[in-house]
Amino acid sequence: MAEIRIEHLRKQFDDFVAVEDSSLTVENGEFFVMLGPSGCGKTTTLRMIAGLELPTSGRILLDGDDVTFLRASERDIAFVFQLFALYPHMNVRRNIGFPLSCQGVPRSDVRRRVEETARLLRIDHLLDRPVSGLAGGDRQRVALGRAIVRRPKAFLMDEPLGTLDAEFRELMCQELRQLHNRIGATTVYVTHDQLEAMAMADKIAVMNHGVIEQYGPPQEIYDRPASMYVADFIGSPPMNFLPFRGSLRRGTRQVRLNGATIDVPEIREEGAEGDLVLGVRPEHIRFDESSKIRGKVVDAEYLGTTQIVTVTTGHGTIKARIGADRPADPGDTVGLTFVASRLSLFAGG
Ligand code: ADP
Ligand code: MG
Repeated sequence: MAEIRIEHLRKQFDDFVAVEDSSLTVENGEFFVMLGPSGCGKTTTLRMIAGLELPTSGRILLDGDDVTFLRASERDIAFVFQLFALYPHMNVRRNIGFPLSCQGVPRSDVRRRVEETARLLRIDHLLDRPVSGLAGGDRQRVALGRAIVRRPKAFLMDEPLGTLDAEFRELMCQELRQLHNRIGATTVYVTHDQLEAMAMADKIAVMNHGVIEQYGPPQEIYDRPASMYVADFIGSPPMNFLPFRGSLRRGTRQVRLNGATIDVPEIREEGAEGDLVLGVRPEHIRFDESSKIRGKVVDAEYLGTTQIVTVTTGHGTIKARIGADRPADPGDTVGLTFVASRLSLFAGG
């Protein structure tokens, strides 16, 4: 069990800055997800935590101890790249025990720990079977077993489901989450997939060009995104951005968009002025004939219980998620209202 803290971490490769002034705390037992597009610095951050890469500056603390300059082998952290690379010619027992055998752990200890691990994953009945004959889900469990058999202080997982097909990814996500619920080991999990992040994380850190833009529980990231980048990265279809000019002061509760007055959550700090953006998630839009925000339906995508309706308005194209039973046909003129308490406001646009 471990708390991982990084302080002002920075990594420069020649004149390219891959990670910039990153600080965060992963609490003991947390499933922490680092989320961001390819190239934003996720792997580099993970490699620094693991001890595979030396930071240019900043510190890494493990349970309060500075481990910045410790070798990887001295950190007791497991780095998991991919969860499905098994040794096909070995049976389940040898696959799971392999990392221990490599370390020279005595045979009887290997045996005991492999059996403990297999019980935890509910594959103890398969221990003497060759992995080549196993069903997909069981193979994944064996791979997980091999990753956790060392029982390190923490796990770092770098897109471990990377090349799995969609069905297995989902199964494996659930498996990983359940395993985490059982053993509660601190885990830092890297992905570029926002749905995976939302489904698995206790906390999410959203990265952009080497910078952590925001971190917190998934609901907080979703409901109160700190930037347009974060708002855009999480949620599908993405948040609508409606540009307007105005000013936000402490206590502001309404803004004006082209003559329409819109209630917004009360502004709590001295706000911005000039070019602003109102952020509206598709599911926080209602059709209301009396609204001054009017537009024309150009498309309706039926999804069973809801539909995604695309509306062109004087504020740009807006996507709304509404009940599938509400008639919305291309060509219809509609009025839109927004759920005031769920709106976001951003400076600049
Ligand atoms: P991610 O895992 O989010 O896709 P990485 O941490 O792998 O991103 O890479 C971040 C940036 O740093 C990328 O632009 C990558 O090309 C660069 N980078 C990573 N490792 C090196 C290296 N050893 N030398 C030079 N540039 C690197
Ligand atoms: Mg990477």
